[in-house]
Amino acid sequence: MTTYAFHPHTLPTVPVEGSEAVFPVRRILCVGRNYAAHRREMGGDERDPPFFFAKPADAVTTGAEIPYPPATSDLHHEIELVVALKAGGANLSPERAIACVYGYAVGVDLTRRDLQGAAKAKGQPWEAGKAFDASAPISAIRVMDAPAPEAAVTLSVNGTERQRGQIGDMIWNVGEIIAKASALWTLAAGDLIFTGTPEGVAAIVRGDRVVGEVEGVGRLEFTVV
Ligand code: MN
Repeated sequence: MTTYAFHPHTLPTVPVEGSEAVFPVRRILCVGRNYAAHRREMGGDERDPPFFFAKPADAVTTGAEIPYPPATSDLHHEIELVVALKAGGANLSPERAIACVYGYAVGVDLTRRDLQGAAKAKGQPWEAGKAFDASAPISAIRVMDAPAPEAAVTLSVNGTERQRGQIGDMIWNVGEIIAKASALWTLAAGDLIFTGTPEGVAAIVRGDRVVGEVEGVGRLEFTVV
């Protein structure tokens, strides 16, 4: 039996809709620029394919209140479909990749846009901009087949719609995302993948009420405090 130097931290988990069981999070991968209209608003080149970055597993939060993070004055919302894996592997075909899916959730990829912009300008890594505490608010996971291509992906702040897209707008679909990720990392049960955001990303401030929804998947609500 392992003797730990100190008590190990609690495993991050996400509730599973209609179940007592919770989903134990192993890793969080995120896809950047997976919607053409968002790639344009971020100044991306039309020929640049989407890419991956990561957040720590303990960035997930299901809290009704999300603390405004330190060291930023430009916190942005990015509404995203999240894929939860029950299996994994390396070099998966898109068909085998889809069979690894446990369910789907609604997530917001919170971003300290000012820090991300500074990192981009200097060619530095993105962790300070993307991988901070509580940067991955998420809904309960719904065990289901993939949402329909026409399913709406929306986010509103204080009742005003800011983002709207649909699942079929994604440049890489869910099977392709998992397959491409598995060519870079060995995936496993417990992995979450944030699949990218449609256009309309913008700043939120303390007191804002954020409601994100992926049609057929769920709804995520939180207040920034
Ligand atoms: Mn994102």
